[in-house]
Amino acid sequence: MSSTTTDRTAVIAKIEAVPLRIPLRAGCIPGASLWGDKLSAADSLLVKVTTRDGVEGWGEAFGYRAVDAAKLAVDELIAPLCIGQDATRIRMLMLEVQKKLHVFGRSGALAYGFSAVDIALWDIAGKLANAPVCQLLGGGVAAMPCYASLACYSDPDLVRAVVRQAIDAGFQALKLHEKDMSAILAAREEAGLGVELIVDAGCPWTLPQARAVGPALKAVGLKFLEEPLWPPENFAGLAELRRTTGIPISSGENVSTLMEFEHMLAAGAVDFVQPSPAKMGGITELCKVFPLAAIRNIPVMTHSFYDGPGLLAAIHATAALGTADSMIEWRWFDLEARIYGDALTTTGGRISVPQGSGLGSDPDPNVIRAYRRKTTG
Ligand SMILES: [Mg+2]
Repeated sequence: MSSTTTDRTAVIAKIEAVPLRIPLRAGCIPGASLWGDKLSAADSLLVKVTTRDGVEGWGEAFGYRAVDAAKLAVDELIAPLCIGQDATRIRMLMLEVQKKLHVFGRSGALAYGFSAVDIALWDIAGKLANAPVCQLLGGGVAAMPCYASLACYSDPDLVRAVVRQAIDAGFQALKLHEKDMSAILAAREEAGLGVELIVDAGCPWTLPQARAVGPALKAVGLKFLEEPLWPPENFAGLAELRRTTGIPISSGENVSTLMEFEHMLAAGAVDFVQPSPAKMGGITELCKVFPLAAIRNIPVMTHSFYDGPGLLAAIHATAALGTADSMIEWRWFDLEARIYGDALTTTGGRISVPQGSGLGSDPDPNVIRAYRRKTTG
């Protein structure tokens, strides 16, 4: 298979999209939901890129309801453009892919698909260099603070229970996906004032509606309020909400191009910017947001509401390019199994940057085998 040739090219031989469905653990706190849907499992899409020499890189596309659409984009549109190409020309190859596919849009499932391929190519680059990705990006810190990102539970008693669980695990910062004030207040009551709280509203409100709930949310003392407005690209509205309520605002997981990030930052829309490596173009595009944000002293809080290679991409890029304010989003799902098993975990609300080559860890093959979802297509 492999050779000792001095040829440094690594030709892409195969790209495989692997859908996983890992159920929530039996006996976990009940009642979890997300975006109005009952949550019974974590649906994710991993992408494995293999070179002709047998080097494997792993990437991840934003999953949930987008798994099948992103898989189709990888299989039918992206992979054919990448097979036979040099895996070590990451920026140039991904730019070519983006240019060839731009007529289908610059966001959504298609962007999730090429994000996954990009992350996998960075994994390969690290493995070929025998260095962790953060070292390829200039080197960085060894560990970073995380916040626990909870599902929505709505019922104040259940919210209290999951908040307690995360705090007992060592987290000093939590994100809620709750909309009702009763649930948010229950979280604050349980957490006390010493724990930082974030509310991810999920783009529900018009500007007048958001201003109406502003005083109540302000009183909770949030670290930041995430995506309060519909539509998410209402940057002027976010800027006005910041000004008029005094609540720190974050956004960015639904921003998908560098130029759109520039528009958002130039509008004064956010206090924290949240590029999502599994949505907006992988490590290549994510790295461009850090200097853009640094110009305006806006901390980058990568979005990583997933737990595969996309999370590792956020960790490596933030370790190398982030600031002291940057935190890692650690999705707090109580699952039957985790993609990296016990190899990736938090201690006292902090995470160590994996120091193995590439992303530092490969998905557990037993987990892939056990939870690979059969596709109907
Ligand atoms: Mg969010």
